Formats: sequence, C-alpha cells, structure tokens
Amino acid sequence: MRPFILAETNWKYIKDASIELAILPWGATEAHNYHLPYGTDIIEADFIAAESARLAWEKGAKIIVLPTMPFGVNTGQTDIKLDINLNPSTQFAILTDIIEVLNRQGIFKLLILNSHGGNDFKSILRELGLRFPNMFLSVCNWFQSLDKLLYFDEDGDHADEMETSLILLFKPGWVLPLTEAGEGSEKKMKIKAFREKWIWSERKWSQISADTGVGNPRTATKEKGEKYFKAVTEKIGGVLVELAQCDIKDLYE
Ligand SMILES: [Zn+2]
Repeated sequence: MRPFILAETNWKYIKDASIELAILPWGATEAHNYHLPYGTDIIEADFIAAESARLAWEKGAKIIVLPTMPFGVNTGQTDIKLDINLNPSTQFAILTDIIEVLNRQGIFKLLILNSHGGNDFKSILRELGLRFPNMFLSVCNWFQSLDKLLYFDEDGDHADEMETSLILLFKPGWVLPLTEAGEGSEKKMKIKAFREKWIWSERKWSQISADTGVGNPRTATKEKGEKYFKAVTEKIGGVLVELAQCDIKDLYE
C-alpha cells in the first residue's frame, strides 16, 4: 500500500495527512496501431504518475495521486471502433467537480498529468482558475518533457517507438509481436502551413493513418523504455517536489 496513491490508501491515513498537491493522471481509451492495448495511455499515466510521485514522496513532498481518468478527447476518431470520446465540455464538468472538492478541503494545488495528445486542458484551466481563484492549477504533458530523439531512433506521436517501448516495459504480455504492427505512417496535410504547424486543424485520424498508429514502432525495445521511464519520472518527480513546496502567493521572481 503506497500512502501517496489515493486508490490504495485509507481513511485512517488520509484523515490526518497534510497534502499540498493533488496529481490527476488523465489518459484515453483508443486504438494504438494493431499491436498495443486500448489502455496504452492509461497504463502510461498510471506508471509515470506513481513512480514520479514515489520519487517526490521520498524527498518529503506532501502529495496524493488521484485515480487515472480513463477516457479522453477522441473527437477526431469517431469512426474508429470503441475509441471512447469524452468531449472537452465533459472534461470541464469533471474538473469543476474535482477542483471544488480540493478547494473546499484546502488542497490548493492541482497538477493534471496528461497522457494523451487530444486532451488540451489549457483553456479549461484558464476558465476554472477564474472560478476558483485560491487554486493553483497546472498541466504537464509528460510526453513533451524530454527530447524523445535522445532516447529513441524515430519520432512519432501515437503508438510509436516511444509508446511501444514503454508498454513493453510495463505490460509486455499485452503487446503483440512487432511483426504484427502496422508501419504507423502518417499522411500529411497538402497545405504547407499545417505541416509547418503555424495553422492547426484537428486531424481526421482514419484518413491520416491506415493502422491508427503515427510513428514507426518496429525498433521499440523494453531497454529503451526503461531508460526513458527513468529519465521522465526523475524530471517529473523533481517538479512535483517544487510544486508541493512552492508558495502560490509568491511564484514569480
Ligand atoms: Zn497513446
């Protein structure tokens, strides 16, 4: 039983615990090429949150990891079987309720640990920050915390070498042999401005990828996943300590 994981701990511990920072891991339930489980983003969120929190806890950070939210925004994948979409307005409603609890109980810091590219919490947190002025609300996309190319041969953004390496580490029995994986090749927009990323539009997923993957998974290994996992959790663990200890009335220098 880890006292910093809410789903594992108990009222006997929690009733007197002093908690500075709540961490809400947020995943998605969606196809990940042919070879990875639908729960890939949830599994990554669970493992990365728990290990980062363990490192921070050992340094004295007063934190609690809430259960991982299993569904994310999949508005661009409506025709992919059993990709379960949660609309941004639903995320807004869920976050309002969770933040209301934290705010009422004097836990004034929340970090969303986001595991899914389609989840975009910035606008939601701007609006909820207005509604809950005593709260310090933040979001971390762990998959953007490191330069992936220092750990992996190829870039990608869905069911790629990085995600495949992580699931080979966390749940090796849930990964099909990589010979069964699709290539994960992505069709790019014809209009150059989108490829240069200074204009954005949601990608229609079934039109940009034949196998639902974006990024070649074939060179993934458990060893690469292990090295990346260690680096990413050390980096996030460090920021959890800083967030737990910071004075939210004195954030700027
Ligand atoms: Zn994913």
